[in-house]
Amino acid sequence: MRTIKIFDTTLRDGEQSPGASLTTPKKIQIALQLEKLGVDVIEAGFPIASPDDFNAVSLIGQKIKKAAVCGLCRALDQDIDRAFDALKGAVKPRIHTFVGTSPLHLQYILHKTRQEVIQMATAAVKRARGYVKDVEFSAMDASRTDVKYLCEVIRAAIAAGATTINVPDTVGYAVPSEWGKFIKKIIALVPAFNKNIILSVHCHNDLGLSTANSLVAVEAGARQVECAINGLGERGGNASLEEVVMSLRTRKSYFDADTRINTREIYPASRMVSELSGIAVQRNKAIVGANAFAHESGIHQDGVLKKRETFEIMRAQDVGWPCNQIVLGKHSGRHALKTRLSHLGIKVEGKKLQKFYERFIKIADRKKEVTDADLKRIKY
Ligand code: MN
Repeated sequence: MRTIKIFDTTLRDGEQSPGASLTTPKKIQIALQLEKLGVDVIEAGFPIASPDDFNAVSLIGQKIKKAAVCGLCRALDQDIDRAFDALKGAVKPRIHTFVGTSPLHLQYILHKTRQEVIQMATAAVKRARGYVKDVEFSAMDASRTDVKYLCEVIRAAIAAGATTINVPDTVGYAVPSEWGKFIKKIIALVPAFNKNIILSVHCHNDLGLSTANSLVAVEAGARQVECAINGLGERGGNASLEEVVMSLRTRKSYFDADTRINTREIYPASRMVSELSGIAVQRNKAIVGANAFAHESGIHQDGVLKKRETFEIMRAQDVGWPCNQIVLGKHSGRHALKTRLSHLGIKVEGKKLQKFYERFIKIADRKKEVTDADLKRIKY
C-alpha cells in the first residue's frame, strides 16, 4: 500500500482566503495542531510577503519537530533568500518555489518566452538547493499548460535538484477524468517520477471538484496531496484535508493508499481553524459540519440505533467527534424517541409511549428540533 504525503497549506493558501487573516500566535497554535494531526508538510507562509509572514514561518520552523516546514517563494533570488532566512531554525526546512507556465501567465504576467521560464525555474531551484536539500517546485496554472511544455519545465526543475514537483490546478478548472489522464501522461513523460521524485497535486474548488481531482491524481500516481483544513483557500478554496484523508482511509482498499494522519485530530483541528480564522464551517460540510454525523429521518435513526453501519460509512469518533447525533424532529420515530428518553431517565412503554410520541410530534411540527428540555416538559 502506498503512503500519500499530506501537505497542509491552511497557513498559506488558507490564510489567503478573503476574510481570514491569522495573527502569528494563532498560526503557531494551528501549526502545533497540524503536527498532532500528523501532516507531513506544513506550508507556514510566504516569507517575502510581509514581516509578519516572515516571523510566523520562522517561529513555526523553530517549534515544529516532526513535520517539514515550508516557505513559499516566487522564482526570484530575493524571494528564495528570504524564505531560507525564515527557515534557518527549522528541523526539516523545505523551500517551495513557483513560476507560472500557462500561455496566459507567460504572456500577461511574466512577459517571458517558454525558454526564459524554463531558465527561471532552473535558476530558482538551483538557488534553493544551495540552501536546503528539500526543494519543491510548482508550475503555476499547470492545468492550463500544454502537457509537453509542462514536462519540459518539470524535467528542468528536476535536473536542477527539485525533489517534489507540484502540478497545481491553480484556478480549479480541471475535470476529474481529464485530470487523471493529464497526471498519468506527465508521469509517463517524466521517468524520474517512477524513482525518487514525488509528484504532488494542488487542486482548487472553484467548481467543487477539488477533492475528486485530488483523488483521481492519487489513482494516477501522485504521491503528495496539498490541502487545507475546512477547505480554506483562495476563492472557492483548496481541497479539504478532511475529505481527502477520510476518502483514502474509508476506501483504503480501493485506492490501495493511505496517509499517516491521526484522524481523531481532524475535528479538533477543524474547530480550531474555524474559531481562529473566523470562517464558519457550513452545517452540511462533509466530515466536520454539524450535520456530518447527525440523523433526523426516522428510518435512518432506527437503522443507526440497530446497527450503525446501516447509514454511516465512518465512525464519528474516528474523526474526533464525541459521538454521532440523533436529532429529534418531526421525521424521528418511536425508537429514537424512546432511546433518548431512556438516556434522560424517563421510562415510557406501550400506550404511554404512543401518547408521549403524539405530543412530541406536535412540538416537532412547531419547532425544527426538539431538545432534551422540551422532552422533559412533556406531560404523559
Ligand atoms: Mn493555491
